[in-house]
Amino acid sequence: MKKLLAVAGLGLAAVAGAWAQTPDDYPANYAQAPRFRALAYYSADAEPAHVEFAEQAIDYLWHLSWGEGFILDRATSLEGMTADSLAQYSVVVDINALPSSAAERKLFEDYMENGGGWVGFHAAGYNDESTAWPWFNTFLGAGRFFCNTWPPQPALMTVDIAGHDVTRNLPAEFVAPECEWYQWRPSAADNPDVDVLCSLSPKNLPIGIKDVVTGGEFPVVWTNRRYRMIYLNIGHGDREFTDPTQNLLFVNALRWVVSRDPSGNPFEKRGAE
Ligand code: ZN
Repeated sequence: MKKLLAVAGLGLAAVAGAWAQTPDDYPANYAQAPRFRALAYYSADAEPAHVEFAEQAIDYLWHLSWGEGFILDRATSLEGMTADSLAQYSVVVDINALPSSAAERKLFEDYMENGGGWVGFHAAGYNDESTAWPWFNTFLGAGRFFCNTWPPQPALMTVDIAGHDVTRNLPAEFVAPECEWYQWRPSAADNPDVDVLCSLSPKNLPIGIKDVVTGGEFPVVWTNRRYRMIYLNIGHGDREFTDPTQNLLFVNALRWVVSRDPSGNPFEKRGAE
């Protein structure tokens, strides 16, 4: 890896010289600034399909961090962390589980209320009566889990806000890979603080074979504008990283949350001065 990068670097230097470009008009922006930190938060003791997703998601994130683009840490609990240590992270990627202990929840609430970043997948948005964490519903912008489709299946996804940074390079509609699709009550789609970026198209209805959903709101990707967060109801099983459009959506979502870090946008890096 390092050797390949070194060779590529030499080639680019030669081309830049031949074109007599100055640093100001060179279009690439190589990493010359501190990297951001991301924390992958997950459970290895969850529903098997959610553990499968976690393994693949961590692998996918790790590949995104190649070339020292960012620092990826992982944790199955926030216990032992402090507000300061959690605040080092530009983003917590919540892959398949919610903070469960009172100490973890307090840390996470303080992190998010003070400008923290969150990308939540699928099971990270699941909550029911036993969750008993009202703050989380305010944060998520939706109520309790209400129902789901079964078995996991592909579905037509519609982009609801095409001009958003997360969706601007996506097609208006695309077929998302196999997932178990959730609904909540109340739905995030009815929350005035929420921007729904992608939904399952009504053309999918009725959807399911064993558990069939015939109607209702199907927001899949949304942000609660009161927080630096995005939720994607995607993340069930081992097929989620098989589609380039959906993978692009994942990268966009991560990049968008990180780009809004109150300490500065790490993607607007300046060259060494
Ligand atoms: Zn699931």
